[in-house]
Amino acid sequence: MSIDLPLLLDPLRATRHCEHYAGSLELQCCERLTPVLARSDGVMEYQLVFGVDNDRRSVIKGWVKASLWLQCQRCLEPFPFPVHSTIALAVVKGLDEAERLPEVYDPVLIDDQPLRPQLLLEDELLLAVPVVPRHEDGMCQPPIDTQTKPPADEQHPFADLAQWHAARRST
Ligand SMILES: [Zn+2]
Repeated sequence: MSIDLPLLLDPLRATRHCEHYAGSLELQCCERLTPVLARSDGVMEYQLVFGVDNDRRSVIKGWVKASLWLQCQRCLEPFPFPVHSTIALAVVKGLDEAERLPEVYDPVLIDDQPLRPQLLLEDELLLAVPVVPRHEDGMCQPPIDTQTKPPADEQHPFADLAQWHAARRST
């Protein structure tokens, strides 16, 4: 059975009890994520399964997906950016333990504080956001096509010529 995500949880207890969470979260409630978004409407959907792997590690597996509104750095318009990230985390108590982890896991460093599982999900989405978000080529609004648009200073001679012809005809 899966239940909604608690605000705080004890990760070692959660792995011992094989807790399983699934649901959705409003993106506008994600304080780490919203600064990189052009619009914060929408939700993320997630699944988090706590457990112990074959090597007795406390691990957190699952996925998170969302359609994030990012601002295109070429045309400055917002565009939807779909993210679907797989989560494979191992709970560690120190940096040396983190360095010994197999590559499949990213470390979650814990201290005596309870874990805010929402932050794990926000961090996974943040990792998927490109450093310079951009529409795909040719998808900018309005389309920026430097190949066919003449430079501004080449447009004026023809405009002037047309005006000159019009002036001559009217005299
Ligand atoms: Zn664009």
